[in-house]
Amino acid sequence: MRNFEHAAVWEADRDHFIHPYADFANFKAEGSQIITEANGVHILDSTGRKYLDGIAGLWCVNVGHGREEIANAVSSQIMKMQYYNPFGHSTNVPAAILARELASLTPGTLNHVFYSTGGSTANDAAIRIVHYYFNQLGKPNKKKIISRIDGYHGATYVAANLTGIHATKIGFDAIGRDLIHHVSAADTYRGGDGRSDEEYCDFLVDEFERRILQLGPDNVAAFIAEPIMGAGGVLVAPQGYHSRMHQICKKYDMLYIADEVVTAFGRLGEWFSSEALFGHVPDILILAKGITSGYIPLGATILSDAVHDVISQPQCVDGVFTMGFTYSGHPVACAAALETIDIMKRENMLDHVRNVGPHLQAYAKKLLRHEIVGDVRGSHLMLGIDLVSNRQNKEGFPASSHAADVVFARCKENGVIIRPIGNRIVVSPPLILSKTDCETIVDVLDDAISAATQTLQN
Ligand code: PMP
Repeated sequence: MRNFEHAAVWEADRDHFIHPYADFANFKAEGSQIITEANGVHILDSTGRKYLDGIAGLWCVNVGHGREEIANAVSSQIMKMQYYNPFGHSTNVPAAILARELASLTPGTLNHVFYSTGGSTANDAAIRIVHYYFNQLGKPNKKKIISRIDGYHGATYVAANLTGIHATKIGFDAIGRDLIHHVSAADTYRGGDGRSDEEYCDFLVDEFERRILQLGPDNVAAFIAEPIMGAGGVLVAPQGYHSRMHQICKKYDMLYIADEVVTAFGRLGEWFSSEALFGHVPDILILAKGITSGYIPLGATILSDAVHDVISQPQCVDGVFTMGFTYSGHPVACAAALETIDIMKRENMLDHVRNVGPHLQAYAKKLLRHEIVGDVRGSHLMLGIDLVSNRQNKEGFPASSHAADVVFARCKENGVIIRPIGNRIVVSPPLILSKTDCETIVDVLDDAISAATQTLQN
């Protein structure tokens, strides 16, 4: 490994690394904080400052930082066979074994795994597979996809268009051909509008059905949704929503794609949340992030037997499935995933999350004492907080006041990393944190929100 002075790294970064989601002007002036070490629930920067990582890297480092077991699994796979292509009939040991493991952990008949390199590519692959599926069925017009406002599905062209977060689209183009349509977010805080959960759910399901009828059921192929919206601000749907949306999909011969990039691998105390917490088995399941705990990039698009049966029949094509990435089923990434799963099993991590998760949610409710906190919500180790300038009408602060950034800055000063998103704050720590760590995150937030109240109200 080469060694570099941190000043040289800082300059190289500022001059040559295009960062996701950086403000070009500020970035040139301020540059980056260099994260140099990570262990357990903590990260260290180049000045030696230590932080409690309240966001698990970016919703991904589920088993915690610095796991020697994963380093060993990765290095031994590299020494044995670091890469050979998976095209046609060649395979590798970790990819095959991981596919079987995923098939056994997932619910229902989700038994067939197409690998990619992350959440975006897994979602893009899903949409291509959905289109291929309906071509195979002789329904070439059934192509439109319904997604949701405030949903996040990635940054490649199709995934970015599936995404319904307005701020991610500014300055970019929409994909053509009237392909993707958005319905309302399922957001029990803002969307409910005084309605009961049941009435709100009726409204969302009705809106969805009306949209399908308007687009024409013969033209609509699939619905994609996160069980709990993550990057949109940890938005929780009313009870029964997902299974009812899935029923509507069945009624109109559409596929339901569950984007569990964030909600799988223990974040909600389950391997996968769709069936365990939301009462339905999707037709296609999207995984990334926690699948390797962020140690190596990997994505997976998992198909039900029924979907796989159709795409594997040589009907409208000659039987060759002409889609694949160089790194589909990368042996090193799959070895990291297998070790991640083994660690989770060995350490009973799902039980741990079922224990600490409710504590985080309950303890965080104390943040409601602040006038500028409109809502504290979530499930297990996904926590969302809405900052409001007016609790009655739930109005946020103007974008120019960067409300959540103000809170973020103070938390960071006090050694805790949370994620600011406009007027929303999200917390998604490594699953291994203790109850005391949960309390530290919330206590630091509590102080930061007190300080921010003064700044924001002046
Ligand atoms: N889907 C969801 C629900 C996500 O949260 C993300 C990333 N935050 C993605 C897809 C995209 O994944 P990636 O950044 O690995 O492409």
